[in-house]
Amino acid sequence: MSTDYDVVVIGAGPAGYVAAIRCAQLGLSVACVDDWLDAAGHPAPGGTCLNAGCIPSKALLESSELYARMQGEVAAHGLHIEAISLDVPGMMTRKDRIVRDLGSGIAALFRSNGVEWLHGRGQLLPNRQVHITAPDETGQQVTGRHVILATGSAPIELACAPLQGERIVDSTGALNWSTVPARLGVIGAGVVGLELGSVWRRLGAAVTLLEAQDSFLSMADRQIATAALKLFRAQGLDVRTSARVLSTRDDDGTIRVSYQDAEGVHELAVDRLIVAVGRRPCSEGLATAEAGLLLGEGGFVHVDEHCATNLPGVFAIGDLVRGPMLAHKGSEEGIVVAERIAGQRSAVNYEAIPSVIYTHPEIAWVGRTEAELRQAGVDYRSGQFPFAASGRARAMEAAEGMVKVLSDARSDRILGVHILGAQASELIAQAVLAMEFGASSEDMARTVFAHPTLSEALHEATLAVSGRAIHLAVPRRH
Ligand code: FAD
Repeated sequence: MSTDYDVVVIGAGPAGYVAAIRCAQLGLSVACVDDWLDAAGHPAPGGTCLNAGCIPSKALLESSELYARMQGEVAAHGLHIEAISLDVPGMMTRKDRIVRDLGSGIAALFRSNGVEWLHGRGQLLPNRQVHITAPDETGQQVTGRHVILATGSAPIELACAPLQGERIVDSTGALNWSTVPARLGVIGAGVVGLELGSVWRRLGAAVTLLEAQDSFLSMADRQIATAALKLFRAQGLDVRTSARVLSTRDDDGTIRVSYQDAEGVHELAVDRLIVAVGRRPCSEGLATAEAGLLLGEGGFVHVDEHCATNLPGVFAIGDLVRGPMLAHKGSEEGIVVAERIAGQRSAVNYEAIPSVIYTHPEIAWVGRTEAELRQAGVDYRSGQFPFAASGRARAMEAAEGMVKVLSDARSDRILGVHILGAQASELIAQAVLAMEFGASSEDMARTVFAHPTLSEALHEATLAVSGRAIHLAVPRRH
């Protein structure tokens, strides 16, 4: 086996494995080093996203949503299910199979593209040398003409709520329970807290989310976040904002969570607790001091707009660097870095990266919020359309939520699109495409959308920007 490569990638998550494959497609020799082991101790590519993030959470969200719909919504369709039973271990087996199959798929892609997959922990040494410590503690050294760092992130732990077996867990633990807790507490009502809270709520747990911030989903558009909070509370998700956790105590099997809000100190008694307060970059020990890799605030590897670090020929991508901690953002950076190494002039458009929260209904957005536009002093116009007025949404029993389009008041260029509703994760792609092409709201308003579809709500919202949505009641003119 060679020890010299054109590119050595450290990390095989969605940032690293995609970078490795793109490098190979461009004719570069590539090794991808990764230390993830599955429950059986076998190397498993795909990083957090595949093994403990995007995919397993979506598998459980899908199963739990199906269960919830069978219990409730089907009656509205005139269907009656006499008995339905819950098999949580069966749900977990399905989820594990999906993860395993997709992992085998990545391994096959590595083989077919000629990417050398090296198992172990990589550490950057001076002159783009990488030391790899294998799971059996043996060591080896490889060198890259270029090195791409893609070691991702790990859950932030809270000193006031230390992890404890199956009772106090991080997001990874909450994806692997085989029984439903009667009372579940979640510290953090962000994307991960809401998604995992939703899974267990739908399966029957009484769920309380404690969020330290005063505002709910501060990164989302205010109107959308407020509407979503109302819907989530109606589903039984007890979201408490301005609630700062002080301590946790195991009282004979009951976890007592002490937290403070504006009214004083309170206690929440739960059977299990998820700590979902964000993630930190995995940069500790990634490079030796002699290598001289520059880290920035919060331990993120310092990079320029093209993901170049302070070291010549060394790049960093994904959760390890600034920007949203999203799989598709990391993958896009991986592609762009590979292409730049191969001499192309690629760039990531950070203005058009979609965000999605896979709750019910889903929340998705791209571009700026109204608050951001106001703060930046941008003159904008807004068009909104409720799913309640969409024929397809009504037929689907999915009339909750809305679409909101924001465009520049002078140029009409679309600056942001915000969706709360069924399949928002899919609908947002149309808005991303429009923004990528610099479309105006008029461009979308003049586009023909199939009827009846949820996408028509996006079309109507673009028509609403200029006050001409068809299926929206307006005050009568005299
Ligand atoms: P990672 O996926 O973290 O991969 C890094 C890899 O590097 C890992 O395999 C790690 O073991 C390995 N590694 C670390 N250090 C070393 C080392 N020194 N040597 C060798 N290997 C090393 N994002 C979305 O876009 N959509 C979602 O729906 C979504 N859902 C999520 C749900 C949950 C519950 C969680 C926790 C996260 C979710 N995310 C989602 C976030 C997403 O998982 C991350 O943004 C994404 O995985 C980051 O990709 P990455 O390649 O940068 O890092």
